[in-house]
Amino acid sequence: TERYFLAERPDGVPDDETFDLRTIDLGDPAAGEVLVKIRYLSVDPYMRGRMDAGESYAEPWEVDEPLEGGAVGEVVDEAGTEFEPGDTVVGNMSWSEYHLADADGLQRIETGALPVSTALGVLGMPGRTAYFGTREVLEPRAGDTVVVSAAAGAVGSVVGQLAKLQGARVVGFAGSDEKCEVVEEEFGFDACINYKATDDYIEALSEAAPEGVDGYFDNVGGPITDAVFTQLNVDARVAVCGQIALYNAEEMPTGPRKLGKLIETRARVQGLLVGDFAPRFEEATADLAEWVAAGEIEYRETVTEGLENAPDAFLGLFEGENIGKQVVRVE
Ligand code: NDP
Repeated sequence: TERYFLAERPDGVPDDETFDLRTIDLGDPAAGEVLVKIRYLSVDPYMRGRMDAGESYAEPWEVDEPLEGGAVGEVVDEAGTEFEPGDTVVGNMSWSEYHLADADGLQRIETGALPVSTALGVLGMPGRTAYFGTREVLEPRAGDTVVVSAAAGAVGSVVGQLAKLQGARVVGFAGSDEKCEVVEEEFGFDACINYKATDDYIEALSEAAPEGVDGYFDNVGGPITDAVFTQLNVDARVAVCGQIALYNAEEMPTGPRKLGKLIETRARVQGLLVGDFAPRFEEATADLAEWVAAGEIEYRETVTEGLENAPDAFLGLFEGENIGKQVVRVE
């Protein structure tokens, strides 16, 4: 099978030298193993952290180790497991055409009328991050103004819609006019700031959120977050989910710089890690599936064709090339 390996650790933005596509032999499944033909691979911002040797919230990959992440595929063979050929499964698998997985790490999926790729997006890890991050950390209330960064993305798009369902007024930040249109028209945000079309984020935000910010769901960090902090209201809640603006930074810029605002507002800033909610994943997926089916939650996916394009799909996350969940379809 063809499989991507980490060829070397990147300095700054990863490039062709980072990824190496190799052909390896898999052999047959040993007892307790399942051979999966991969259909969809997830590429996610957190994978950038795994390419570095230093600490991040996911364990670093070693050089010459396969790249891996969430994937959906079809069981083609197994040895003494609960799975059968033809089952559709999700789990952590390598960037490959075929993967030999421990049965323990796989789950059978039923996405009903929805495409199986949703198990990597709105019904999977990003959807759950939005679900728990919104309910348990952001805690939007009716009448609040909530701001979401990377609003057109997999997590942000769902966060904004969940906050709207709670009765909040929701403002997004996204990186193009096209994205802002989707954020407002499809995801139902009240306003969206194309941050690439303005150099004064504070002014843009004070226009879009004239009553200040009661809740901020931070996917990006950096200058957008600095700007949002200046607009926090008393007792605001900030959920720190991601800092993608900084993941490729070779040197950390000084910051966050607007913490004085926390004194004035007694705002609460709290990080979140989706894995902490693992015992409740089924609850989240069941609720999300129901809301999607009922048309209360809209979702988007950006599908890149072909395993050989997985590195580009991954790098595109840092350029904002995706709308909604970025996946790679493997033939
Ligand atoms: P997205 O689908 O949101 O894709 C990433 C988006 O980030 C891009 O489309 C781009 O959109 C935006 N972006 C990239 N660079 C910058 C930048 N410099 N400044 C502002 N925006 C930028 O990804 P996910 O929904 O999968 O993840 C969103 C965030 O949540 C990430 O930071 C990720 O690490 C984090 N995360 C955290 C989890 C946790 O448990 N804590 C779990 C899952 C995700 P644009 O065009 O708008 O710039």
